Amino acid sequence: MDDAFETQDVQPQFERETTANATWSRLLAGNRRFAQGKAEHPWQDATTRETLIDRQNPDAAVLACSDSRVPPEIVFDSGLGDLFDVRTAGQIVDDAALASLEYAVAKLHVSLLVVLGHEGCGAIDTAARKLDELIASATDDPAGSLEAASAMADLDERIAEAESIMLRTVGMSVWQAREAELEAHEDFERVHVAHTIEELVTRSEVIQEALAADRLMIVGARYQLSTGKVEVLSF
Ligand SMILES: [Zn+2]
Repeated sequence: MDDAFETQDVQPQFERETTANATWSRLLAGNRRFAQGKAEHPWQDATTRETLIDRQNPDAAVLACSDSRVPPEIVFDSGLGDLFDVRTAGQIVDDAALASLEYAVAKLHVSLLVVLGHEGCGAIDTAARKLDELIASATDDPAGSLEAASAMADLDERIAEAESIMLRTVGMSVWQAREAELEAHEDFERVHVAHTIEELVTRSEVIQEALAADRLMIVGARYQLSTGKVEVLSF
């Protein structure tokens, strides 16, 4: 009996890992079809819709930007029942986004969570501008450079306490990128995906537990408007 239990215990984990990798490969294959203009638009027919009336069993959750040019089902050439999407401007994580993703992990048992940024993200532009304004106001001190220097030293805190959610989330990513001497817009986008994953893991016990139990894999990616391809990010 013990052996049987052991096998049962090990096998599902192995299957879940395989499922996550297979799902990610399938999504990337769909993206290649889309980028090449050979999209198949799978699982979008009436029969599929009818089989999904009473249940859903998506393989992946996608946290993506709301940008009208980045719809996950189209970008990954997927269909009904494939992806559980959460989309906010700049794929910002707030309580609602987090609760939705936790539902996907805990109740729908998705094995893959994709955080999808993209080329030409307006949220990054906005956050970078707001960050510049914050820095200008922090250092615009007629009393001298000493105060300005100390204002820069606690800039992290000022960003974290900012009224604008765009500044608190995306702005923090832009600041972290600049601290690493990255100045390109596309690098801001990549760092923001990394920062978003970090935030998801830090803030969510549900996600932490799923990762620890090998029930979930998180991947970061950046969609390129110019080529239609999804760039897989490694951190
Ligand atoms: Zn965007």
